[in-house]
Amino acid sequence: MRDRTPESALKALQEGNQRFVANESGHPRSSYEQTIMAKALDQTYHAIATFVACSDSRMPVERIFDVGIMDAFVVRTAGNVIGVDQAGSIEYGVGVVATPLLVFLGHTKCGAVQTTIDKLYGKADELTPSINAIIAKIRPAVLNVLNREEDLNGQSVLDASVEQNIWQGLHDLFMKSKLVRDKYANGGVKIIGGMYDVETGVVRWLDEKNVSNVYASVQLELENE
Ligand SMILES: [Zn+2]
Repeated sequence: MRDRTPESALKALQEGNQRFVANESGHPRSSYEQTIMAKALDQTYHAIATFVACSDSRMPVERIFDVGIMDAFVVRTAGNVIGVDQAGSIEYGVGVVATPLLVFLGHTKCGAVQTTIDKLYGKADELTPSINAIIAKIRPAVLNVLNREEDLNGQSVLDASVEQNIWQGLHDLFMKSKLVRDKYANGGVKIIGGMYDVETGVVRWLDEKNVSNVYASVQLELENE
């Protein structure tokens, strides 16, 4: 049985990203032999993290953390947004596969977030209804950033919006999923946000205080419903 505490899972991801950035990826558990083994095993209690990530081709989740088969339970959509299907998929990861870690991953130069900004400024081309549905989920994060534009500390509106969109996704997940709220509240899963730089390959881990802040604000919202 693998060591599957939240701390060891996060350490494995941090070390894997360091190997990736140093161009020293070991590609663990990535051969066909691992598939033969996977045939005989259940992924439950093997995968170390559930990921919520953007579909962007510049952020292949297993590669950037140098993990392999049966390591990562990955939910990807453009703009890493949370609708009911994504919430259900995360519930599989956190509830059934029982990963000790849930990682929300945004990335620099995110096209979906940029489109949301462009649309707010009336600069976006006409979008399809399905893309508009994604943009609508990102919009609150961009509006939040535009409302505090004077104190972004030099961060671009795009980068700040990508970061805020991570917390927006966590908010939307908490609102939709009692299972994840309960798991988080009783210490059954550790939640963490990360920003992936598509130009350097480095993952910058975000302040964990944000997670408890989002949880507290969702509790208030639910009480007032
Ligand atoms: Zn993206």
